[in-house]
This record gives sequence, C-alpha cells and structure tokens, in this order.
Amino acid sequence: MKFGGTSVGTPQRMNQVLQLITADDKPKIVVLSALSGTTNALVNISNAIGEGYRGEAAKKIEELEVYYRKFVDTLVSTEEGRNKANAIVSEHFEFLNIILKISFSEALNKDILAQGELLSTKLFSVFLEEINVDHVLLPALEFMSIDAQGEPQIGSIKVKLSQLLQHYPDTKLFVTQGYICRNARGEVDNLKRGGSDYTASLIAAALNAEVCEIWTDISGLHNNDPRIVDKTVAVEHLSFDEAAELAYFGAKILHPACIWPARSYNIPVKLLNTMEPEAAGTTIDEAALSVGVKAVAAKDGIIAIKIKSSRMLLAYGFLRRVFEVFEKYKTPIDMITTSEVAVSVTIDDSTNLQHIIKELEPLGTVETDTEQTIISIVGNEIAESRNILKKLFNSLSEVPVRMVSYGGSPHNISLLIASGFKKTALQSINAGVFGL
Ligand code: ADP
Ligand code: ASP
Ligand code: MG
Repeated sequence: MKFGGTSVGTPQRMNQVLQLITADDKPKIVVLSALSGTTNALVNISNAIGEGYRGEAAKKIEELEVYYRKFVDTLVSTEEGRNKANAIVSEHFEFLNIILKISFSEALNKDILAQGELLSTKLFSVFLEEINVDHVLLPALEFMSIDAQGEPQIGSIKVKLSQLLQHYPDTKLFVTQGYICRNARGEVDNLKRGGSDYTASLIAAALNAEVCEIWTDISGLHNNDPRIVDKTVAVEHLSFDEAAELAYFGAKILHPACIWPARSYNIPVKLLNTMEPEAAGTTIDEAALSVGVKAVAAKDGIIAIKIKSSRMLLAYGFLRRVFEVFEKYKTPIDMITTSEVAVSVTIDDSTNLQHIIKELEPLGTVETDTEQTIISIVGNEIAESRNILKKLFNSLSEVPVRMVSYGGSPHNISLLIASGFKKTALQSINAGVFGL
C-alpha cells in the first residue's frame, strides 16, 4: 500500500492511513511519500545552495523545520512520543544545516532530496509506536537500488528485501520510504519525481504481492487531467498496456515507469483515494476488458526535431543513420513521423540536444521546436472505435497539430502540439471524443 504526499500531509491524514493499513491483518508493506510540499521545498533548498544563495537556503530550512515542529505537536500526544519525534526532526534538520556549510555536489543534492521520505516514515513510525501498532520500519536505502544506467533491478531488490524480512518472521506490518534508493556507486539517489509509485510496484513485484495499492487524493485515474479539464470521470478498469501508456505520456497520478514491474510479475495495481476509501477507483491488470477510448493524457517539455534530406528519395539507411545519433547519446525517441524527404522525431531529454543536432546536420537540414506537448489518446483497439479519427480532428479544429502518430500501437493515438494549445486541446477532446 503506497500513500502519496497528500495522504500523509497532515496528522489527520496520517490517522486515516492508520485506519486503512490496520483494517485487516493481512501482511503488508506500506510505502510512504514525503509530506506534500516537502520535496518541492527540498528542491528549492538544494537549488539555492547549488547557486550559492546560502542565506536564502538557511531561511527555507528554518521555515520547513517550524512546519515539522508544528506537525509533530499534533501528530503525537505523549511526552515520550513528542521527544522521540522532535529528536528525529532535530536529526534531519541538523543534517540539512551541516550540508549548508560544506561544498555542494550532485551526491549532496540527492541527500537533501531524500530527507522528506526519511522524515515522513520515521514520524509515522513514532505515531504507530505511540498507539502500540506492531510494525517494523524498513530502511529503503538497504534494499532499493539502481544500476549504473539508473535502472532498478528487481532481482537484486528481491534478494536484499527478502533477507531483511527474514529478520522479522512474526511481523505483519512494515513501513518504508518511497522514492529513495542507492545508486551503483552506493550513494543515496532517487527514482525521480513521483517515484514512490515506482517503489511500491517494485516491492510488489519483488515479493510477488497479491496487489499493489496506490492511495492518493483522487478516486482513480480519470479520463482526462482534472487539473485542466472540469468534467472528468474515473476509469474503472485499465489493462497494464493502457495504464503504462497513460503513465508514460503524462497522467501525473502514476510515475511514468511504475507499471512495468507490476506487468512483468502480473500483479494487479489499484488506484484508490485515501479521502474516499469506499470509492471503486481504478483497477489495472492484464485483461483489456473493453474496446475503445479510455483516457487522454498530456506530456509537456517535448522537443521536436525535423531532419530533411534532399536525397531521401529511394535512400535506404537514412533512418538508421538518424537513429544511431540518438542511440549514441542515450536519448529515447517518443514519437516518429516520416515523409518521403523528411523525418520528425520527439525527445523529452534535452541534455545532449546540441551534440545531437551537430551530428544530424551532415544528414540534412535540421529544425528544432521546443515547448511542445504530446497529447496521447489511450484505449484498447482504438482503431476499431467508430469514427475516432473524425471525432478527434473535428474536436481539434482550433488547434494546429505538428505531428500525428497512429497505428504504432493498438492502444494509442498521439499528437504533437505547441504547449500553448494544451488546455484548449484537452478541453476540446473531452467534449468531442468523450462526450463530457
Ligand atoms: P500523490 O502525491 O498521491 O502521489 P500525485 O499528485 O502524484 O499524488 O497524483 C495525483 C494527482 O494527479 C491528482 O490529484 C490529479 O490532480 C493529478 N492527475 C493528473 N492527471 C490525472 C488523471 N488522468 N487522473 C487522475 N489524476 C490525475
Ligand atoms: N516525494 C517525491 C516527490 O514529490 C516522491 C513521491 O511523492 O512520489 O516527487
Ligand atoms: Mg505521485
């Protein structure tokens, strides 16, 4: 059971989490995120230190500490509990204040970002202890790891986690940190923003769990982004493939990579609402129960690159040469469209953009467009849905479309548009395709 930032963001919410994890006595591992707002605050602190604004960073650390002291006051009521919780807060804020004084590095940045999950789980553990809920706090840094490519390996996570669990044969309730892990150099690292979902599905896969429940602040995955569109509805069921596409193409409720471990080990994932536990939410499993369009998602920060070759006519090997450049710079391509003389691709990682452009230039004319958004319409056998393309393009009559990808997967139609048109596009698709 994974609980996100809002689900643990106030002492009252932690109380709700307590009710949910103790509702039955099945063995379970509870994965917690940092309290909502904390990771953002830590990112700001880290950036301020990195840019040399240490005074500003010190002020932000102080503000965050005040917030945690207040949190502790409401969370625990006994003197012993408060002493323990305050000692935890002191330990982590002393650490942040020490970092403030030493020279900054990428490894220290990761150490700073890890404080949120360490704090939330340790405070939750004190809270459980105060009311005598038998449990063990498992340090994620002892079993969650990524390799030199930044990829988690379920095999090694399984070995380390199983060894840890063997020490507690009588314990049924375990609590651990989402998001944080160790990298191949043994340093503290993380699974990228929103990574607690990924932690949960990796653990579920490693232990062959019965189910992986992701508890958040909304009742399941909705057909459209509820932050942008007014009328959205929960999707009751998705296949792993559909959910993986939605997560990858921007549905913020799920970390982009969190479906693959569950899919590999065939573990159903449930998206549930801590604030409304009786709502059905969304169940994700192997079966694709119905044909048709399920949801739309949007992924920002996309760069489109067009390579136009004057010699593409009958030229074989052109695409291979283009793709080799992206392979060399380990930059994944999301969308591709081709015409007789040109190919357009999209990437979301701009780290090596200048090198990539330089190496593409000998192949033809290269044009780049930044601030693009991929809109993905996801469902099962979409091509079978009647009039889907007609409905889609009718609804987008006001939106200039830069690229279209249809037919690559039976689950997805993707469009590339300038990010400024995202809101209009999502709203128009909601009306024109979903009839909402
Ligand atoms: P948590 O902190 O629990 O991990 P997140 O903020 O990461 O929660 O994810 C939940 C939020 O995702 C929702 O509050 C909602 O605003 C947003 N969201 C974006 N797209 C969707 C979608 N298609 N369905 C449901 N929620 C979505
Ligand atoms: N706390 C981390 C974040 O805000 C991880 C998570 O919440 O899933 O990105
Ligand atoms: Mg999240």
